Order: sequence, then structure tokens, then C-alpha cells
Amino acid sequence: MSHTKLVRSAGRFGSRYGRGIRELVSEIESQYRNKRLVCPYCNYKAVKRIAFGIWYCEKCGKKFAGKAYSIK
Ligand SMILES: [Zn+2]
Repeated sequence: MSHTKLVRSAGRFGSRYGRGIRELVSEIESQYRNKRLVCPYCNYKAVKRIAFGIWYCEKCGKKFAGKAYSIK
């Protein structure tokens, strides 16, 4: 976890969006943040998102880019 940069997930949207939308996005992102996905390389459920579109497998150590909310 040490490499994970902790930034409030809604911060980058600035003030262009309404408060309601930013809270919704933050809520959605927090759901995926805590969810482990199956690694396409080792098939172990150890993949987590470390940044927007960046995934990291704790089992085999692979780091790969993907879509924001899913690997495939
Ligand atoms: Zn893996």
C-alpha cells in the first residue's frame, strides 16, 4: 500500500461539477477501490486499482493499465 497515493477521489473534478455529482462519483469509486479482481495473468483474486486505470496484482506483481472500473 505504500506506493498508493492517497488523494480524495473527487478532488480532481474541481468545482465544475455540482456537489451532488462529486459525492456520487466518490461513492462509486470507493466501492471499486475496496474490491479485488481476478488477475488475468495468474488468475488469483489479488488485483486492485492503484490509480485511475492502473491495476496491480499483489500475487504476481504485475502492474497493468485497464479501463477505469474493470480490467477487461
Ligand atoms: Zn497476478
